[in-house]
This record gives sequence, C-alpha cells and structure tokens, in this order.
Amino acid sequence: MRRHLVAGNWKMNGQVADGVARVEELAGLAAAQPAACDVLICPPATLIVPLRGYVSAGAMALGGQDCHHDDSGAFTGDIAAPMLADIGCSHVIVGHSERRRDHGESNERVAAKAAAAHRAGLQAIICVGETKTERDAGDAIRVVTRQVRESVPDGAGAANTVIAYEPVWAIGTGDTAMPADVEAMHNTIRTELAEMISEESERLRLLYGGSVKPDNAVELLAIEDVDGALVGGASLKPADFWAIVRACPGV
Ligand code: PEP
Repeated sequence: MRRHLVAGNWKMNGQVADGVARVEELAGLAAAQPAACDVLICPPATLIVPLRGYVSAGAMALGGQDCHHDDSGAFTGDIAAPMLADIGCSHVIVGHSERRRDHGESNERVAAKAAAAHRAGLQAIICVGETKTERDAGDAIRVVTRQVRESVPDGAGAANTVIAYEPVWAIGTGDTAMPADVEAMHNTIRTELAEMISEESERLRLLYGGSVKPDNAVELLAIEDVDGALVGGASLKPADFWAIVRACPGV
C-alpha cells in the first residue's frame, strides 16, 4: 500500500565535481540493479542545478535540505520553497535535528516550513526524534508525539508529507535504535497521525533515520510501519546507498 522511499541527505558535503561523480555512479547502479522503491537525493543547495542533468530521469528525485517559512523576502542566506520547486526539487527536508539544534528551530517553525513546502507543491519530509537524555529518562514517546502534533501543519496528508523518525542519538554515531523500539515509535506516530489527519494517515510514509547502513538496512526496512529510510553518512558512498535502496522489501 505504501511504496518505500529511500532518501539520501548529503548535508554540507561536496563540490560540483564530487556530486556529479556520485550521481553518475548512482545512475550506473540504478541501471544495473533497478530500485523497487522511490529514491531521493538531497544534496547541498549549490549542487541541485548542476546535478539536475545527471539524475537519471524517473529513477531518482531531487530535494532540498531545508527551506524558509516565507515564500520570499528579506531573509539573507535562506532559500524559499518555491525556489526549490523552481529548480526541479520535489521534496524538502524540514526540522532535521541538526537544524533544530544549530538554528533553534521549534516545532512551530518546522510546521511553518512544512506549510511553505506544501504551498510550493513540494513534499515535506518532517523530521522528529528524541535525544539520548530524553530516551534514557523514558520520555521518548512523549517527546516525539508532541513533535508530531506540533510540527505537522494543517493540510498535511499522504500526498505532501513524509515523517522521518530519527533518534538524535543515532544520527551519525553508528548506533541504531533497536528494531522493537523503532516499531513502537512508528506505531505511536501513526496513531497520532490517525487522530490528526484521519484516513490519510494509513497512506503517509514513515521513514527511519539514524546510522542506516547496508548491514542493518534489511532488518530496519522490514519493520512493520517503516516505509523507508533517511540516510546521512552512507548516502555519500554510492555502493552503500544503493545497497540500502536494494534492501527495501520487494527487490
Ligand atoms: C541524518 O542526518 O538524517 C542521518 C540519518 O544521518 P546518518 O545516516 O549519518 O546517521
């Protein structure tokens, strides 16, 4: 019912030549071993236009890593959602824990960014996840439930929104959440979404993110209610990223 999505978040890495080389390698892998899921690349904003011509048509989509909550204006250094749509993006990540931590983004701000993405016709990938302290205090479910309630804007549905559950302590650390904990959290998120957006919630995709690698992808992607992965570090290595893509059920 829900087609898996594997999204690569390249973060602040690479210059044009690196990005082109990576995407060309991915295109070769995609041609030899087709994906049974949707594949999205979120490069740094500077690489989106240079990579457009290399992303193999139909096989991969391009997305931004963040957008502003307004559509235009005096916001030095920011990028608006309509600008991302204009250069060929179909998705944008909002509320990544690195933005919440380094730029003080609140749930309300994340909801405003997701709403801006929707206005621009983009799918918003809304990130949520608890810190280690919150998990150790037994607070993970409460924190993430609140993030979902406050970060998902009115008008969200399966066609314009993806939720990525990314435990903060698992991002870039090599630690992954226990499959049972991932399953419990995804169930919680879907239950919360059912109250917020009713029947649409069953079709909305929930991704897991946090040190997804080729050697844990099969197990994580097979979990009920895990509809794909948001991949950071491993997305910089085409062979590893494609191994994760190929770990989606259905290949
Ligand atoms: C991320 O930054 O969204 C992420 C999941 O990173 P990593 O895969 O490196 O943990």
